[in-house]
Amino acid sequence: MSETNILSGKVVSDAVYTALENRITSLAHQYSAVPGLAAVIVGDDPASQVYVRNKTRRFLKMNLHSETIRLPEETSQKELLSTIRTLNSDPVFHGILVQLPLPKHIDTDVVIKAITPEKDVDGFHPENLGQLTAGNPRFTPCTPKGIMRILEHFHIDPSGKHAVVLGRSNIVGRPMSILLSQKQSYSNATTTICHSGTTDLRTFTKQADILVAALGVPEMIDDTYIKKGAVIIDVGINRVKDSSEKGYTLVGDVNYDAVQGIAHSITPVPGGVGPMTIAMLVENTVEATENVYT
Ligand code: NDP
Repeated sequence: MSETNILSGKVVSDAVYTALENRITSLAHQYSAVPGLAAVIVGDDPASQVYVRNKTRRFLKMNLHSETIRLPEETSQKELLSTIRTLNSDPVFHGILVQLPLPKHIDTDVVIKAITPEKDVDGFHPENLGQLTAGNPRFTPCTPKGIMRILEHFHIDPSGKHAVVLGRSNIVGRPMSILLSQKQSYSNATTTICHSGTTDLRTFTKQADILVAALGVPEMIDDTYIKKGAVIIDVGINRVKDSSEKGYTLVGDVNYDAVQGIAHSITPVPGGVGPMTIAMLVENTVEATENVYT
């Protein structure tokens, strides 16, 4: 039985940060510009708090500017839109992210549309998603962009392969399927997208040379779903309650142990896709800053 390789997002993200250093220095020297991110968080969802903290920490570690705007759960949509308008016109911030999910009384689509597309470093604005679909992206959503980088870094060329994406959210699954099927190098895969309306998921997953699991269902994908030699990208970050000090363990959408020796390679959780999402957020914010000055 051959060993399953680990596709470390930590290793790839370190390479991204090293490559960004020159661009950041050059913005500072030429324009006295420091890329700045405003992160808006509404309410106190514990997972969202951790994600925002990890993102802003990385900005600070790279001597970039980052501010977190914390708003209470009961913030009205009007108040949130007003905060976004203020950030849109503040030149200190080149990127704005609104951490999802938002409280139920707020319409996420309206809020995302309110972010000026030039500062939408998450790439969720319909204008940016449209440009991505048309093959001319401004900002590509961070998680799928990071996954493409992982594939490239480990010389896994999707061209001519069958890629199966599980999940069709605008954040992960849908843009992932678009990126994998683009006519360009390290893409060009025959791509299938599956969702909760798919009848007999295994029919598709068992054909996958590259399987991207973005379901949000803890460890659902086991050895019965995969083909021998498949490359598995596990996007899921799920908190499973247990008796540990933290009270939970993070697991992916894939049963990591069950696919060992069958999959060619797999991204671990944590340490796989997660670090790349943050790295691509930094990269998109640097790009947004360059767009202002160059
Ligand atoms: P969503 O809940 O928005 O989307 C989940 C998708 O999976 C939907 O399209 C849904 O189908 C589909 N789905 C759910 N259950 C099944 C099932 N049993 N069979 C087939 N399809 C199913 O989640 P996200 O896309 O936002 O996130 C997915 C996962 O990735 C989560 O665990 C999230 O925490 C994680 N994540 C990780 C990131 C990272 O940096 N690593 C970043 C972002 C997300 P339908 O559309 O029909 O409802």
